[in-house]
Amino acid sequence: MTVIDTLYLEHYCMHIDAFINGRSTPGEGGGPVARRSPIDGVTVVGTVASVSPEQVREAIGAAEEAQRDWALVPVSERVERVRTAIADAIADGGHDGLLIAAEMGKPAREADGEFAFAQRYADFCAPRAVEACAEQLVDDEEGTLLRLAEPMGVVAAITPWNAPVILAALKIIPALMTGNAVVLKPSPLAPLAVSAFVADIAARLPAGLLNVLGGGPDVGEALVSDPRIALVSFTGGPATARAIGAAAARTITPTVMELGGNDAAILLDDADWGPELAERIVFGAFLTSGQVCMAIKRVLVPRDRHDAFVAELVAAAARVLRVGDPRSDGVTMGPVVDAAARTRLEALIASSRAAGGMVHELGEVDADLPEGGHWLRPVLVSGLGDDHELVREEQFGPVLPILAYDDLDEAVRRANGVDHGLASSVWSVDEHRAMQVARRLRAGFTFINCANRAGVSLRAPMGGRGISGHGREFGDLGIAEYLQSHSVNYPRTARPGSIMVANRYPVAAS
Ligand code: NAD
Repeated sequence: MTVIDTLYLEHYCMHIDAFINGRSTPGEGGGPVARRSPIDGVTVVGTVASVSPEQVREAIGAAEEAQRDWALVPVSERVERVRTAIADAIADGGHDGLLIAAEMGKPAREADGEFAFAQRYADFCAPRAVEACAEQLVDDEEGTLLRLAEPMGVVAAITPWNAPVILAALKIIPALMTGNAVVLKPSPLAPLAVSAFVADIAARLPAGLLNVLGGGPDVGEALVSDPRIALVSFTGGPATARAIGAAAARTITPTVMELGGNDAAILLDDADWGPELAERIVFGAFLTSGQVCMAIKRVLVPRDRHDAFVAELVAAAARVLRVGDPRSDGVTMGPVVDAAARTRLEALIASSRAAGGMVHELGEVDADLPEGGHWLRPVLVSGLGDDHELVREEQFGPVLPILAYDDLDEAVRRANGVDHGLASSVWSVDEHRAMQVARRLRAGFTFINCANRAGVSLRAPMGGRGISGHGREFGDLGIAEYLQSHSVNYPRTARPGSIMVANRYPVAAS
């Protein structure tokens, strides 16, 4: 047994049951799902129960029942209960980033921030959910209009592995606060920390309101196909999105789809060139080994700045990018998530070289990397055409193409010339000019002089266009997704004693 094995077995090898109807429930779906650490490729960090189709139905039934009562709880009380459950789970539960680091490779100190994010997002949503749920009454010469904002019902939340706690929190918190119940299915590639945390929160709320199911695509499919699901909120890749969209179409169930990106960073000729800009680009591109939906995926740089910028980026990466065991302090990049991802990314680097791309290795690599881990040296690639797969598609890994452009119109056209439309960034010292370029970009979010995690704002809706999906998370729109509008209209002319022309078209009230 290696030293790492001993450490894991003593501290982290755990089993997490499903959490259904207020109880930890052993899975009946064909044996536990083991998660092997990407740090050494062999150590089982822990296992989660895989649930059966019958258990999926049981969870939805429990959620349906709990939701009926929950919707009647005053919204001010609901938001406080959710907020308190999260705060108490964080205070009592021993949830930390080490487990996330072990199961998916993100640096532990960064992963710690996922739990703090959940608390901050709950604090942010609480007053806004109260506002979003408020009834609106209009009583004027046209009559009485009551506008209700009602919960959807039972929400199926399906999440990926790259920010397991944050991506679940973005769905669970607004859904519960607005009066819905939730059945969450996290990714089997990082199921442990999020399942333990969400079960801990669920145990502090009414039974059945929040359920967590372990398992893979079969469990997800059974969940989204059930006609009792009122909304599917999905974050993940396009192939899964198509399967979920097809299943949801059979029951005409609405979906929120938060999918991938191929985000362009456009550096304008008046960008604030220098070490600080280069470091922001490095973090924007390589956080979580580049496995972030809103990471910088392409950099467009003026041709006469190209060579100097490449040198600046290499120097910045040498200062701030340290590849190593993600449980160690000071490491800023761990392994990629699994062997399949590493193989795919290595092939992408090889095909970039074959296509004439110049590959520059980046960062510092610790000498004693655990053997067998899915390590990948981060690289930048210059000299590729826009038709190369690395530029055209989402790479979702630490391989960054740098592209030279001749004029700004061309840069905007090329930034917009991909199927994805999630985020983008514009870099300039001239705020007005940056905003003007931002207006021309086909994206759901544009960062100015920043990108990725550091540029996100809780108040700014985030989401995609095109194959990056539809619907929004964060901000007021991220709460509104979980509500449906119900208008109750009583025209003055329909009142007893009034005369109504029963076949007239409506006219606007003056
Ligand atoms: P994935 O699509 O493979 O898996 C996501 C989830 O869907 C997992 O829980 C998986 O088990 C489940 N699933 C798989 N098949 C299913 C089916 N047929 N029915 C129901 N559920 C099913 O994605 P991934 O590899 O875990 O995540 C990577 C992708 O997610 C990237 O494209 C990334 O850009 C995207 N992403 C987007 C955002 C965003 O907010 N826009 C955030 C993070 C990640």
